[in-house]
Amino acid sequence: MDVKECVTCNDAKPLGEFPKHRRVCKKCVSKRESARRKDRLSSGELTYSDIRLAATARDLGLTPAEYREARNKPCAVCGKPSPKERTNVGYPHPETGRYVATVCKECSTGFGFFGHDPDRLRRALKLLT
Ligand SMILES: [Zn+2]
Ligand SMILES: [Zn+2]
Repeated sequence: MDVKECVTCNDAKPLGEFPKHRRVCKKCVSKRESARRKDRLSSGELTYSDIRLAATARDLGLTPAEYREARNKPCAVCGKPSPKERTNVGYPHPETGRYVATVCKECSTGFGFFGHDPDRLRRALKLLT
C-alpha cells in the first residue's frame, strides 16, 4: 500500500489519510483548523453565531453570504420583515433540504405544528375560508 509521510506529525500514513495533493494528513489539517477557529473565536473575529450560520447555510445549500441575505428578506407567508434579533429563517424543501423561501420564526413554527404536511394545512385552510 502507498504511504506518505505527514510533514506535520511525521507519521507515515496511507494515501487515503491525506487530502488530495497535500503533504499534511487529514488529522493534522483538522487539528490546525480547529486551533485556527479557536484563535479567531477568542479574538472576536469569529463568533459562535457565525459558525451556526455557516452550518445552517451549508444545510440549505447556500453560502454564508447568500444565507445572510436570505435571512434578511421578509417572511414569504405573513410578510413580516426580518427582525434584528431572532431573524427570519430559511425554509428547506421537504425532500431536498435546499432553501426554498424565507419565513419568520412564527410561521416556521406553524409549519412545524402542522407536521410540514400540505394536506393537513389544506384541510386547516378550509376551516378558515
Ligand atoms: Zn499528520
Ligand atoms: Zn411569517
